[in-house]
Amino acid sequence: MRKKIAAGNWKMNKTPKEAAALAEMLKPKMANDKAEVIFCVPYVDLMPVIDTVKGSNILVGAENLYFEDKGAYTGEISAPMLKEMGVNCVIIGHSERREYFNETDETVNKKIFKALEYGLMPIFCCGESLAEREDNITIERIRIQIKRGMKGLSAEQAKQVVIAYEPIWAIGTGKVATSEQAQEVCKAIRDVLAEIYGSETADEISILYGGSVNGGNAEELFKMPDIDGGLVGGASLKEDFEKIVKAF
Ligand code: PEP
Repeated sequence: MRKKIAAGNWKMNKTPKEAAALAEMLKPKMANDKAEVIFCVPYVDLMPVIDTVKGSNILVGAENLYFEDKGAYTGEISAPMLKEMGVNCVIIGHSERREYFNETDETVNKKIFKALEYGLMPIFCCGESLAEREDNITIERIRIQIKRGMKGLSAEQAKQVVIAYEPIWAIGTGKVATSEQAQEVCKAIRDVLAEIYGSETADEISILYGGSVNGGNAEELFKMPDIDGGLVGGASLKEDFEKIVKAF
């Protein structure tokens, strides 16, 4: 049975003290026996947030990692570093990283392998631009991202990956995909996974939708058959995240 997940992406918004305060405020509102709840936070916020949520159901994720174990990579953070801190998962290939930090399908693939090697659950992001949607190449674009991002993963490894479909035009814009649009692409993702790994494996992989999810639209999105939850930016920094976590 695939997991239901409500994951927050805090992006670059909170100092360590502010992050601990936000985690403290949200913690009592996150209880949930239907879905996993994850806070993905900046590297420097990991320790205070891990300390704050200790003993609760909340898992903590990073927003990136580097694909080498160690070495002369000034400014980078490795999977073993995250693992030792008690981090559970990591966002990989977010569109903001692809756009501003030259992340490619190939680096995404290496990072997914590295996360899995250290037992960190990768939340692998894919999504089309507005121009690609208008050119009617959304599905083709997503299929390529999935194939390249997951290249070489065994079925066992693929089952450990969570995929987040995030149309770039819906991220941080307030423009949410309709539940039908989101379902269409999440279904296409499951279809390509079934082509690669067989439908039994594809059925076990959690696929999230991300892009302006909030307390008002989460339920509608999460009831679609191929949407197993959400990756949430802006609304994960507010009390509204409680409504999203309870929308399953
Ligand atoms: C995100 O950053 O992954 C995201 C979906 O942001 P928002 O919910 O703010 O659109």
